[in-house]
Amino acid sequence: MGVDIGATYTRVVLADQDGVIIAKAKDRTPRERDSLAVARNIIRMGRGLLKENGVSERELKGIGVGSIGPLDMRRGILIRPANLPVENIEIVAPLTEEFDVPTYLVNDCVAAVIGERHFGAGKGVDNLVYITISTGIGGGIYVNGHLLLGKDGNAHEIGHMVIDSEGKLTCGCGKRGHWEAYSSGRGVPQLARLIISSKGEEAFRGSALYRKSGGDLDNLDAKMVYDAAKEGDALALKIVNEAGRYNAMGVANVINVYDPSLITMGGSVTLNNVELVLEPIKRMVGDYLINRPAEITVTPLGEDVGLYGSIALALGWEELPRLK
Ligand SMILES: [Zn+2]
Repeated sequence: MGVDIGATYTRVVLADQDGVIIAKAKDRTPRERDSLAVARNIIRMGRGLLKENGVSERELKGIGVGSIGPLDMRRGILIRPANLPVENIEIVAPLTEEFDVPTYLVNDCVAAVIGERHFGAGKGVDNLVYITISTGIGGGIYVNGHLLLGKDGNAHEIGHMVIDSEGKLTCGCGKRGHWEAYSSGRGVPQLARLIISSKGEEAFRGSALYRKSGGDLDNLDAKMVYDAAKEGDALALKIVNEAGRYNAMGVANVINVYDPSLITMGGSVTLNNVELVLEPIKRMVGDYLINRPAEITVTPLGEDVGLYGSIALALGWEELPRLK
């Protein structure tokens, strides 16, 4: 059983012993002030999938869970996740108790890089990075074949690396100048407002963004900006290029720090705008590099990349480092 816990949706899949997904379910992630609500939801979805597909509980080999963080991997829980109104969310203990199989919990981007290495473009690649650009920005990393986790399992919060010392924009985490504040799904509209405020109202009025947002800057979202850029709108293209420069800085920092040979990229902003996200990174990353460049490509596994990682964990294909 593979599980992906997002801020909005929880997805559960069943896979066979070769890792082929045989059934999928998706439901809203509960927002109750109850530390067991998320686990109960997963149990209900998992039980439903087993029943609908005629799989007996004895056939279940393991459960892998990729989740929004931050995690305390040692205790198998999420701690004060952004966007969910509860202190601690229990995951591993209630699932293990219910299904009586090994249950593994990792950060969602760590799950994604595991999925990439076992099922996607990262097969046989020992120095591999996965980067997601969606509502936020995150990463998962192998160095010399070793999966990196950190002391609590929260390594590579790469979206929160500082890429603007002036701190012009504020991140969802509350700190200033973080990569995610400039070019994630939540960051692009902030960057758009910053650029428009410097270029003046006139430029906004003449742009497709004016029409799309109903003339209200507060209505702007990342999709409007990328859609307008696809139509060739000059202001939107300028914003996309600036977002691309911040992405190039972030990706260059990752290459300089981890020295990967391959970076695969996913997340909704990337997957919906592959060319507009990847092209500026490839064009500008060299401006910030000291290390030999890495190949940069979009994940072939799409939105399921993290689920594939959860499946690999459930099947015991990836042994997680022991945290000390
Ligand atoms: Zn941040």
